[in-house]
Amino acid sequence: MALKYKNQYNVNYSPQEVVISCGAKHTLFNLAFVLFEEGDEVLLPVPYWVTFPEQLKMVGATPVEVDTHENDHFILRASALREKITPRTKAIIVNTPNNPTGAVIPPEEVERIVDLALAHNLFIIFDECYEYFVFDGNEHASLARFASKARHLSILVNTASKTYAMTGWRIGYLVAPQEIVKAINDLQSHSANPASISQKAAVESILGAQDSVKIMISEYEKRRKFVVKRLNSINGLTCSSPGGAFYAFPNVTRFLKGSGVTDSLEFSRVLLRQAGVAVVPGSAFGKDGHVRISFATSMENLEKGLDRMEKALAQI
Ligand code: PLP
Repeated sequence: MALKYKNQYNVNYSPQEVVISCGAKHTLFNLAFVLFEEGDEVLLPVPYWVTFPEQLKMVGATPVEVDTHENDHFILRASALREKITPRTKAIIVNTPNNPTGAVIPPEEVERIVDLALAHNLFIIFDECYEYFVFDGNEHASLARFASKARHLSILVNTASKTYAMTGWRIGYLVAPQEIVKAINDLQSHSANPASISQKAAVESILGAQDSVKIMISEYEKRRKFVVKRLNSINGLTCSSPGGAFYAFPNVTRFLKGSGVTDSLEFSRVLLRQAGVAVVPGSAFGKDGHVRISFATSMENLEKGLDRMEKALAQI
């Protein structure tokens, strides 16, 4: 994994700065355990991937929500983070491209976040699990690019799950300062370690030929266009085009108003019961009024799902 970052960003990391875990979820779980304690505050952009706040709460830390806005494509802004910093703030969680919104933070904003972290001595937990899935000429700006000034505060989190569709193999990894890596190794040696077979497979996928990744990106691009177009054609729904990842995050508030369906959870239940379609309510990500739809499934399934969704919603 050190070699991956060397190849991609020409930054030298040693094996003592890397930990392989059983998926990025495990990586982040370990991180929460070694970094935080009761009373620590961690800045968490909203909407967030569901696991972030739960892991923080598990170790007694307080997730401090930082808003992003639909009319700003849900991009995390350094200015919004700045307002929430207190003497107890210890870290910032940054997830780009984002789950659930698909937001991609532009390079200049990542740099502003880095400068803010430097000014307040905050760790940046930089989840770049969807690093390759960027569309419309967007550019993924890894924190690794800023290693020359912020290496001591940079924690890069990555996975084989998304880029290589290897979710079931359970390989996640982290690149971080040695003290953090040492603490995680001590913790992980008493819990679970990733299977050697999965590790070999991940090395091959990450360092081997990347043709499959290019094919998947163009496939996701097609699905994204299709899903966004179809969602916007459904009465009461609006969906902006996600800049990255493989999720659409349509706004359903207009639909809710006229329908008697109370919120995104109820909306998701209705779709499941009446259309057999599974979407995740925005409230799970801290943002009601939206639902998340994954397009990491076949075009055929997407067509079928959207047809059923349109039909079910028209009957409400
Ligand atoms: N981080 C983000 C933002 C995710 O969306 C996910 C999975 O959905 C993960 C981390 C964890 O991935 P895994 O545990 O499969 O490596």
